[in-house]
Amino acid sequence: MSERVTREVRRRKGAAMNAKSSGTKTKYCSVCGEPASDIICDRCKAKIQGEAVNKKQQVEREVKTDTSRK
Ligand SMILES: [Zn+2]
Repeated sequence: MSERVTREVRRRKGAAMNAKSSGTKTKYCSVCGEPASDIICDRCKAKIQGEAVNKKQQVEREVKTDTSRK
């Protein structure tokens, strides 16, 4: 069961596999490629979590801009 998960993680980490020389314990953020304690570093986690909010705000802004232009 856990082997399946490991295989999938390896597949997703394709790019990180290039860093063979660096310790096997080192994980890399799959978003920015920086060493991280998880698949995604805290920075990108916060970024992704805030992205949904940002997109909402952006759409609202765009709509507002469009309205003010016309
Ligand atoms: Zn990151």
